[in-house]
Amino acid sequence: MKDFKRLLGLLGPYKKNLAAAMLLVLIETSLELVIPTLAADLIDNGIATGDVRHMLLVGGGMALCALIALITGLTYARHAAKAAYGWGARIREAEWAAVQRWSFSNMDHYETSSLVTRMTSDVTVMQNAINGGLRPLTRAPIMFLLGTFFSFTMNAKLALIFIIMTPLLGLVLFLIVSHVAPMYTKLQATVDNLNSVVEEDVRAIRTVKAFVREEHEEGLFSKVNNSLRNVGTKTNATAALNMPFFQLTMYTATVLIMLLGGFMILDGEMEVGALTGFLSYVLQVMNSMMMLSNVFLLLTRSLASAGRICGVLDEEPGLGERKNPVTSVEDGSVEFRDVSFKYAQGAKENTLQGISFKAKPGSTIGILGGTGAGKSTLVQLIARLYDVSSGAVLVGGVDVRDYSLEVLRDSVGIVLQKNLLFSGTVRENLLWGDSDAADDELWEACRKAGAEEFLRRFPDGLDTDLGQGGVNVSGGQKQRLCIARSLLKKPRILVFDDSTSAVDSATEAGIRASLARLEDVTKIYIAQRAGTLRGADLILVLDDGRLVDSGTHDELIGRCQVYKEIWASQLKGGSL
Ligand code: ADP
Repeated sequence: MKDFKRLLGLLGPYKKNLAAAMLLVLIETSLELVIPTLAADLIDNGIATGDVRHMLLVGGGMALCALIALITGLTYARHAAKAAYGWGARIREAEWAAVQRWSFSNMDHYETSSLVTRMTSDVTVMQNAINGGLRPLTRAPIMFLLGTFFSFTMNAKLALIFIIMTPLLGLVLFLIVSHVAPMYTKLQATVDNLNSVVEEDVRAIRTVKAFVREEHEEGLFSKVNNSLRNVGTKTNATAALNMPFFQLTMYTATVLIMLLGGFMILDGEMEVGALTGFLSYVLQVMNSMMMLSNVFLLLTRSLASAGRICGVLDEEPGLGERKNPVTSVEDGSVEFRDVSFKYAQGAKENTLQGISFKAKPGSTIGILGGTGAGKSTLVQLIARLYDVSSGAVLVGGVDVRDYSLEVLRDSVGIVLQKNLLFSGTVRENLLWGDSDAADDELWEACRKAGAEEFLRRFPDGLDTDLGQGGVNVSGGQKQRLCIARSLLKKPRILVFDDSTSAVDSATEAGIRASLARLEDVTKIYIAQRAGTLRGADLILVLDDGRLVDSGTHDELIGRCQVYKEIWASQLKGGSL
């Protein structure tokens, strides 16, 4: 409930619509409640006595009440929809903003599909709670109170019947709702699972086809799909139980009241009109309980979703900024001072352990090591994609934690192993690097990144459409475009995380040669091919998260066993 209340705080300007909607329902309900009293009066004092004037007067009054109730009902719908959808949009906005502030470590806590569900389906549940629940939630208590009051004033003896029936009905409904509540949390989690499988399958559809794994994927999909069907069916079937119980109570009450009322009419204690009016109130009171139980179901469901949404909003961004951060990076020097790092707080072993080295501005650094040695992890610390667990990383002589994140990330260009391009044209993607760059600058960056030659061959050049995630270009072309995009940022430090792996050796050498001309940019290469790092000013040899040795090729080949082994194995590999 705390989460739900907190999310209500996000209503902002839509609070007015919510208040207006509630007020309109109040008016509508009050008018509806007057109608049965008027009807009783019409029957007993108009029809029974043949007083046409009275009939017309009371009938006209009833019609007026109905008309006003209709108008308020319609206006209500507008305000409720505005409040619900406006609220939904603001919740999504808040979630979106929260996720944008997240660091990589926050992203590690959530599956992408779960985030998608929390921003879409969960918000829809919240919207429905208002759109479908506001009206009954406002109506039901008034109907209940006024209905009970009017029926008592009409006939206290008869009213006792439903005074006994109502708590019984209340108890049954309570039992159902408390049983269904945890099922809704499970339902949303099952939606998460389905989204996860669909997302992974769609994203990897090429691999699935290449490995002829359609059947396997279909099996996975059927499993989660069936699970959602089963959980959904069970939840809704249980929730639907409140209807038959409600009807049973309502009809029992009606029969009893008719019976008792009938006797009272025979005894002359009551008139026919009064009994009709009375029955209308009984129905209204029972109906209000039914509505309330439905609202409780909606609310229980939305509480589960509210909790999931608040989880996203409350995720503490992993990387904070200082109050007065440093806003310019002096030069491209990089220094690691006894850096240790682990991804999860609770992890037993550090991914990086006691790393120290210094790289001069403009120098070329190579990082070498087997898979899982910690190379990617190390470079991510330079752009502060994660924070060190102990020690310090300095860029331009300043601790990376002292910079404003924007300034730091603008100064450190990382071309990641998993290169990512976005839907749109080549130009649109390159402009991510520098949104003001003119075409000349774009071409210049492409030339340095070895992308000019193939781009010139595309009939549309910079306007070539890349398709979703850049599917329309080859792996090597994609890598070169990503390098061009990073170059456009004019960074002080450029990191290449095995980003030329899909490029042939000659092109790779070309790219390196043109990058070597960027004299004041520190270049850090992670490469699988040891040979390509030969000319580097400093080579860091990593093994199992530790810096085994560092130096130039000539120094290392003489003294570093791990380096010698890598070098030897690659030479062997090269002779194939
Ligand atoms: P390399 O780039 O040398 O192949 P990485 O730096 O990618 O190695 O990985 C070093 C270790 O850290 C590996 O054991 C890997 O499983 C682990 N690792 C990498 N990324 C994460 C992550 N996001 N969360 C937890 N562990 C990770």
